[in-house]
This record gives sequence, structure tokens and C-alpha cells, in this order.
Amino acid sequence: MHSKPKVFWIDAVGCNGCSHSFFNYPEIKELLNKVELLYHPLLPSPEFKVQKSDILIIEGALKTTYFPRLDFNLVELISELVKLSKKVILLGTCSVYGGMFGEGVLFNKQKEGKFFEFKEKMIALPGCPPHPEWIAYVIEMLVENKNILLDKENRPKEIYSYTSHMGCLRNEYFEWKIDALDFGTKEGCLFYLQGCQGPFTHSSCNRILWNEVNSKPRAGTPCFGCTEKEFPKKNLFKTETFMGIPADIPLGVSKRAYLTIAGIAKSLKNDRLNKRLIDENN
Ligand code: SF4
Ligand code: SF4
Repeated sequence: MHSKPKVFWIDAVGCNGCSHSFFNYPEIKELLNKVELLYHPLLPSPEFKVQKSDILIIEGALKTTYFPRLDFNLVELISELVKLSKKVILLGTCSVYGGMFGEGVLFNKQKEGKFFEFKEKMIALPGCPPHPEWIAYVIEMLVENKNILLDKENRPKEIYSYTSHMGCLRNEYFEWKIDALDFGTKEGCLFYLQGCQGPFTHSSCNRILWNEVNSKPRAGTPCFGCTEKEFPKKNLFKTETFMGIPADIPLGVSKRAYLTIAGIAKSLKNDRLNKRLIDENN
């Protein structure tokens, strides 16, 4: 019988939210049975010691100033663990890009991060937190020794080659430029007035739903762009505009094309959708 892959999970500078997201994976017990858990800060596991692993999971950001973790300097500890591992999963936006706490392991926002030289063995799973099914998918693929197709930032294409806009129930409103007038409402698109970042956020939140039922835009909350390098941006609930034109437009579309389509949609009007918006707000 083959031995189980050894998994070491280290929590750097973060909030443990990524771990808590994973705890919501419905088949967590079965998945953990397929690995040998060498260490996890919150799950029952053997005492901490620096050692080799097949899969190292790094949750949280770095701090380059002295920041102790289990009596080690955090950056030195991560350096040791990365060298001793076969594969590294960077769990969460903090770990991949720095997020809200500090520097990322692979990237420091737009720039290459401290451990960029180890990119070849890294799989980036940004998200604040990442969806439990994304985490389980990557662990499962590694356990089964299957190839995961990655994009140029080492994110699994299966998850991040879409935007969170894809699959949103408000797409029809986006097409016709009919804007939601408030949070928590069902009708209208949250892009122009409420700051939704769905059209330029790499994620599959509207295809792989949270708790299998929902996503932020479905619940009437704009997408915060939590999988992206610059997360968290200022003015989360506001779409920056210049002379009425959104500063950020859907990925892959030129500003000219966006403005032309938006102008035509607004001028033609969709009475059926406008009526739904009016009915909801009366
Ligand atoms: S990515 Fe978000 S959820 Fe994960 S540790 Fe950082 S702040 Fe917490
Ligand atoms: S609410 Fe956001 S994700 Fe949904 S259609 Fe509008 S812009 Fe796209």
C-alpha cells in the first residue's frame, strides 16, 4: 500500500479565515483521511516540528520585520518549509498577493514576492477566503497525482479563468445597463452604482456557489474583488468613474467597445426589466 501524502499547514499572518472556509467543506473528513496531516494550527495533529512534506499549505501573508511563529522568525521558517516540500499551496489572497496584512509569498501586490524563485512548485489559490471546494479540488488533485493546469500567476485555470460576473443572475441587467438602486435588492446590476467588481475579478463564485446556494451578487452585495492583487481596494462599494465612465471595465473589452455597447443598451431600453426594477422599489 502507498503511504499517504504528507500535508503540512502553516498559518502565517492572517485571520484563519481560509482554514475556516476549508472546515465548511462537506467531505472534509474523507479528504483528510487521504492524507497524513503533519501539522495544522487548529486541527488535531502531531506537535509542530520543521520537516519534509509532500504538500505544504501556507495560509496568510509574510511580515519582513521580525515576526515570531512558534519561536521562529516567520520568513525563515517559511523558507525552510518551502525548501523541504514537494508542492506548495498558497492559500488565500494574503498568501498569494499580500492581501490586507502584508507581503505575499509569491507576489507582493504587483511585484514578484520573496519566494518567487520557487514558483514552479507553487499553486496559487487567492480569495479572501477561497471557496472550500476550490481548496478541496487542489488537495484532491495533488493527492491523486493529477496535473492541474495553471495560468501565468499559477492559479488553477479550472477556477480562475472565469470572472465572478459569469453565472451571475443579474447579467441581463448588466447587458441593458439597468442599475440596482440599493444593497440587498434582487433586481438590477450592482456594477455602476454599488461598486461590483465581478466583471474584472478572476473567480468562479457565481458558478460554484457558496454553501451551494449563494454568492455576494445573488444576495444583493457587490463582488469585492477579493481574489485580486490589489484587494482590498479603497471605496469597496463605489465604482470609480471619470465623466460618468467607469475607471475599470469588463476584462477583455476595450473602453470604446464598452461605451458603444452601454450607450446603445441604455438608449434602446428594456421595458420588461425596467418594470421589475420599478416594482421592487415601489
Ligand atoms: S486571505 Fe482573507 S480569509 Fe484568508 S487569512 Fe487572509 S484575510 Fe483571512
Ligand atoms: S451584479 Fe456584478 S457580477 Fe452581477 S451582473 Fe452586475 S456586475 Fe456582473
